[in-house]
Amino acid sequence: MKFSEFEYEAPATAAEAVRLLASRLGEAKLIAGGQSLLPTMAYRLAQPALLVDVKNIPDLNRIATGPDGVRLGARTRWRDIEDSAALCTAHPLLKEAIRHVAHYQIRNRGTVGGSLAHADPAPELPCIGVTCEAVIQVLGPQGERLVKAEDFFLGPLSTVLADDEMILELRLPAWRDGRRWAFQEFSRRPGDFALAGIALFYDLDAEGRVSNAHVGVVGACQRSQRLAAAENALNGKPLDAATIAAAAAAAREEADPTGDLHASAEYRKALTGTLLERALLQASGRQEGITMEIDNA
Ligand code: FAD
Repeated sequence: MKFSEFEYEAPATAAEAVRLLASRLGEAKLIAGGQSLLPTMAYRLAQPALLVDVKNIPDLNRIATGPDGVRLGARTRWRDIEDSAALCTAHPLLKEAIRHVAHYQIRNRGTVGGSLAHADPAPELPCIGVTCEAVIQVLGPQGERLVKAEDFFLGPLSTVLADDEMILELRLPAWRDGRRWAFQEFSRRPGDFALAGIALFYDLDAEGRVSNAHVGVVGACQRSQRLAAAENALNGKPLDAATIAAAAAAAREEADPTGDLHASAEYRKALTGTLLERALLQASGRQEGITMEIDNA
């Protein structure tokens, strides 16, 4: 099917982009990499009368790292993140997660802002945003506002963004040195959307027990979210086989996936627990001086 007819603008500022969105409220859509929007237009699931291209807006593709954390401009592409040496130390979990996004051609065009606004529960970045307590900077006709990532996603393909608002930046808090972390996902073929995935980080207290556990889920809930019961099963515990099994069981229970032709809901629930086990094993493998007997690997 061909696209329905649309007008096209490529403004030079974010303020002008927002003004254009407001001038055709509900009929205009931003376009960044086009990797999610163009397929929906090709199927005529979306028929915007006006496309507002963000490609000429300066600084929107900036990656900044510093003591306050990492800032990713909305037009930052997956490839920019992959190519960033600074992110290897400034945010290793983000860097690892983005390695799993789609195929090279898509990573060459797809962007941070497009992924957040599209709000599919399967992609990696929204999960990293929620897991790491990121904040999303949004610009609308009344000015800027900051939205916590955990409040941004309402459900599949649904966010708190108004029709005349655009994302400017994703802000991730500073990554703490020595933090234990892992990212695990499973898809049928490399580059496919994950059937399920887990983003994990935690710290160790003075007694070597888990503290500050953050467990986020990819694709196995109705929106990008953390698994509170799994985090509770970890916090304050030594990371031994019993703790890992309890956290995995909690994750299986808490996951709320939808079944489709790729995998049933039951399979995705089971997979979520297994991936958390793997993530914990992977993260603990980075620990020094802690040995574990794992009987369920
Ligand atoms: P667009 O397609 O340009 O826009 C998507 C939506 O975001 C539109 O509604 C648009 O109006 C809105 N938008 C764009 N920019 C802004 C902004 N600054 N502010 C507000 N709204 C904005 N993604 C993954 O994460 N993991 C995967 O494994 C994966 N696999 C894929 C496989 C295939 C075959 C395809 C086609 C895509 C896949 N994707 C995957 C999606 C891809 O990463 C897209 O890049 C991403 O979903 C959207 O980014 P985009 O820049 O292309 O956005």
